[in-house]
Amino acid sequence: MSRNCFVPGCREGYKSKIKLNKWQGIINKTMFKAPKDVLLLEKWAKAIPRADRELRPGIDSVCEKHFDETYLNRYFETKLPDGSINQIKRDRIVLKNNAVPSIFPDLPKYLTRKRPIEKMIAEKKILFNDNISNTTDHVSETFNNLYDHLKNMELPDEWFFTYLHRSLVLGNLDSNYELIKKIIISNNDLNLKVFIKNKLINITCTSITCIEDITKVLKKVDDFVMCPGTGIDNCPKSDQCCEYINLISLNQVRNQRCSECAKKRKYFMDSQRVSQEHNYTTPLIGNIAVTTYK
Ligand SMILES: [Zn+2]
Ligand SMILES: [Zn+2]
Repeated sequence: MSRNCFVPGCREGYKSKIKLNKWQGIINKTMFKAPKDVLLLEKWAKAIPRADRELRPGIDSVCEKHFDETYLNRYFETKLPDGSINQIKRDRIVLKNNAVPSIFPDLPKYLTRKRPIEKMIAEKKILFNDNISNTTDHVSETFNNLYDHLKNMELPDEWFFTYLHRSLVLGNLDSNYELIKKIIISNNDLNLKVFIKNKLINITCTSITCIEDITKVLKKVDDFVMCPGTGIDNCPKSDQCCEYINLISLNQVRNQRCSECAKKRKYFMDSQRVSQEHNYTTPLIGNIAVTTYK
């Protein structure tokens, strides 16, 4: 059994500290063994910021310093006939049921978890080791929340997530591993940009305020169907091709191509028909249509 306090930075229970206490006439802190109840143990383990070792039930101990006073029974209490309560100090403090440690005064600064968000930002700073804003303002809070969320999120097929150039990047690869859809969230202002084949796309949501926003945008962009061009061998896609098909328009669903390519296709077909009506033929030499007059 370990007599040392499990909390990082705490010296209670260490031989040197016990010696020092004795020398200074200080009573040693009461040590509490980690609970054997699985759920309570999990709460303790979650609460104590220690990653190098698992908290072992019934073996590792945590000292009284880490528990809120409301969790500590320091006295035997007896109700007297007149209604008053008589308190007799216990030799050994008893921990109340469901007590969870929450006070960690000697932790290295970055591990102090007053609020989870502060801890998260601290961890992020270590992880990135660069310029995530020092302030705990809304932008970096949201950004860090998003990072955490995206890292653990189950993405749609063929999507990946990465942190690049201080931005959160979501990308979608086609079967040739070509990056065809991309969502970028900047950490400066949480601005959001969507690219389809390197073309910046206008979308209604341009700033991310919560995790729901990114889920919606991801769904929307995932639903974009890539424009296949005009669908005619010797008629390449329009220079103004939108690169994707907006499925909101029923007409485009039928055509399965973007409005620009649909226009170009129609124009090509029409001119073909006109040339046929006027007895034009368009034999092909390579990819170049050569028009001859009969
Ligand atoms: Zn301790
Ligand atoms: Zn197109």
